[in-house]
Amino acid sequence: MCPLATGRAAELIVDYHAQTLSLQAAAVFESHLKACAACRRLSSEQQMLWSALDDWKVPPVSPDFDLRLFGRIAYEQRLPWWQRKIPPPWSSGLVVSIAAACAALLAAFLWKTPSRLNASLQPGERPFRIEQVENASR
Ligand SMILES: [Zn+2]
Repeated sequence: MCPLATGRAAELIVDYHAQTLSLQAAAVFESHLKACAACRRLSSEQQMLWSALDDWKVPPVSPDFDLRLFGRIAYEQRLPWWQRKIPPPWSSGLVVSIAAACAALLAAFLWKTPSRLNASLQPGERPFRIEQVENASR
């Protein structure tokens, strides 16, 4: 069965190119590649990605990188929380989300209050009471 149909294609193709498949699983997949153009194309693209990553030259890290990084971390930790570049988890987005949730709950509460339920009564009309409804069928 084609791994594309089972949803395991990406995992299988990556494992195949990383050579982490068992010999038997690799042989089965190679046999499938001969018959399936879609898997062959994905496998070829994965091979191109691995080749591009092999060719990628990472620029060297400056010798004082660690020193500057730890100095920056120490500087950030000395600042009060409102001046830090990395905000605390309860600021900005979370506060807005909580405010929006509270507003939604308040709107739902106001929408379902009894005064709203009685608003459709005509002038002079009284709202039904439970006893009236219960005795109406007798
Ligand atoms: Zn296939």
